[in-house]
Amino acid sequence: MDHKARQQSLQETLSAHRLDALLVTHLPNVRYLCGFSGSAGVLLVTGARSVFFTDGRYTDQARAEVQAARIVITRKGPLAAAAVWLSQHLKPGRGASASRVKIGIEGEHLTVAARSRLTGVLPPSIRLGEAPPLVEQARMVKDEQEIESIRSAVLLGASLFDRALETIRPGVLETEVAAEMEYAARTAGAQAMSFDTIIASGERSALPHGRASRTAIPVQGFVVCDFGVILSGYCSDMTRTVHVGRASAEGRRVYQAVKQAQQAGVDAVRPGISVGEVDQAARKSLQKSGLAKYFTHSAGHGVGLEIHEAPRLAAGQSEILQPGMVITIEPGVYIPDKWGVRIEDMVVVTEQGCEILTPTSKELVEI
Ligand code: ZN
Ligand code: ZN
Repeated sequence: MDHKARQQSLQETLSAHRLDALLVTHLPNVRYLCGFSGSAGVLLVTGARSVFFTDGRYTDQARAEVQAARIVITRKGPLAAAAVWLSQHLKPGRGASASRVKIGIEGEHLTVAARSRLTGVLPPSIRLGEAPPLVEQARMVKDEQEIESIRSAVLLGASLFDRALETIRPGVLETEVAAEMEYAARTAGAQAMSFDTIIASGERSALPHGRASRTAIPVQGFVVCDFGVILSGYCSDMTRTVHVGRASAEGRRVYQAVKQAQQAGVDAVRPGISVGEVDQAARKSLQKSGLAKYFTHSAGHGVGLEIHEAPRLAAGQSEILQPGMVITIEPGVYIPDKWGVRIEDMVVVTEQGCEILTPTSKELVEI
């Protein structure tokens, strides 16, 4: 991965936002820009160079991983060390353009307490200001290597569905199903699950985020399985809904409607279209069967170093799809106290449309 090029393109955008530097504290952004995968580190990107700050626990790891940035090992804590470095190196007229230096911070990720500590250390000539999500925007479009990493994560993730199919039986606890899948994931080399595995059976399938509980799988009803793994830092995310016992005519109708809506969403994906239009395509499809009012969340989200990242596929969102974006398409129908169905694939936007990464069949499985 060309971390230097990533930093350079960020540097080119700094002056357009009237920033002399960006203080990158969100760890997935740090990893994206310089390769560091540890849990404590700050990357300062100025117009001319980058400096990475971490503590003594990460000396060896930083030397092995960090690309295109000077490494500073500190005893103070990375953020305090960055403040000291800024005070010494980025004075007005020296490395900075104007009489005041403006440092961008990541407002979504820096706590109020951390910000006031920083302000306390910095001289009055250095000002902090909330920067737009510049790194998140760059991360939306994946390069070839990232897409390969995502492909591997998706395939490993999808293999866990076989384990779910073997384990889901009436009387088995949802947590037991999740445990079998998670054991299989770790055995196959996953670093972690990308989120708490969702196994939501019976009435619980009507909860869009029904994390596996100590509920026993009923003899009859839907089971929503939503799960993913992290491999080489990249996340996977997929949902399949299966039915224990024979589905009723109504259950089948709802399942087919969700399947069609998911396909309508996938069919809408192409470069130049807005994410809001993809959401709309899935919603419109459900309107035909009178189920749109039960589709209570957005149609999907970007996936990469984080399980939920930009863009968000929701009504009114205007982000335009570009080749290389990796997103989920995941409409669902949730009838309170009754049941729920969701189907989710990951797709990569291509020049012509999109490629579905998730290899798993979407036909209704009855167990
Ligand atoms: Zn999911
Ligand atoms: Zn998702």
